[in-house]
Amino acid sequence: MKRQMIIYVDMEGASGIFEYNSSAVIHGSSLWYGYGKKCITSDVLAVCQAANECTIDEILIYDGHYAGEMENNIIVDELPKNVKLFDTWKRCFDWRRIRGQADLEPFGLITVGQHARYGETDAYFPHTIQSPPIKALYVNEKHIAEIGMCAYSFFGTKYIANIGCMASMKEAKEISQNITCIPVKDKKNKWEPNYTETFPIIKENIIEAIDDIKNKEKIEIYEPCIFKMELCDNYKFREPEKIAWKGTFSEKEAYWEAVSVEMGLELFNFVRKYIINE
Ligand SMILES: [Zn+2]
Repeated sequence: MKRQMIIYVDMEGASGIFEYNSSAVIHGSSLWYGYGKKCITSDVLAVCQAANECTIDEILIYDGHYAGEMENNIIVDELPKNVKLFDTWKRCFDWRRIRGQADLEPFGLITVGQHARYGETDAYFPHTIQSPPIKALYVNEKHIAEIGMCAYSFFGTKYIANIGCMASMKEAKEISQNITCIPVKDKKNKWEPNYTETFPIIKENIIEAIDDIKNKEKIEIYEPCIFKMELCDNYKFREPEKIAWKGTFSEKEAYWEAVSVEMGLELFNFVRKYIINE
């Protein structure tokens, strides 16, 4: 059977990017072009090389940082030939379409360049999709941000590893206890290595993680799903007169119910449209 690896890439948790050079994550900035892209490409390349040494047949990547902008953050030409990118409109978070482009039973999921949820301490650039205005997002009472959105879209798939800011490991571990955590920076312990230092760390640990696939767990979620979104200070929901889905709004919280994770995540975009300044 073909062994297909799914990789979800964000950038705030990439190697080599910290507060002092934070504009490296700003899509289109000169530091993003000259440096940020190299950082995240290095991390992703380490994962791809490890996967290929473990005889993975195909690697499918979703590069989701600054979704809505056409240009990828990763430099695709520097990656192995068996890498393919998920195709969504302007790289938007279209999880239903992303899931549909992958195999029914991918070999596993690896998340790269990941940051912590909004409100986490000792974190580089923590946020929940867009914070403000979003303070927190829950699905079936699980507190999720980008890592959770991706992982639960791929439920039933084994979650192999999370790579990124040390503080992002918390969300990843809540999804799967047994994943391999590969921090590339740690604010609490002031560990700020460059991307060439973390490259071999990522590669070695991913090889080990893939070799240990029998001990990795499938991502689980029960459907139907209840979603909840909470808002930051200075933002509230403009309560609509009528909505076309099952849900409720209060000033600071919205709930909605969906028969599947995919549909719930799609409704997320509609709920978001009702956020206004207080
Ligand atoms: Zn991002």
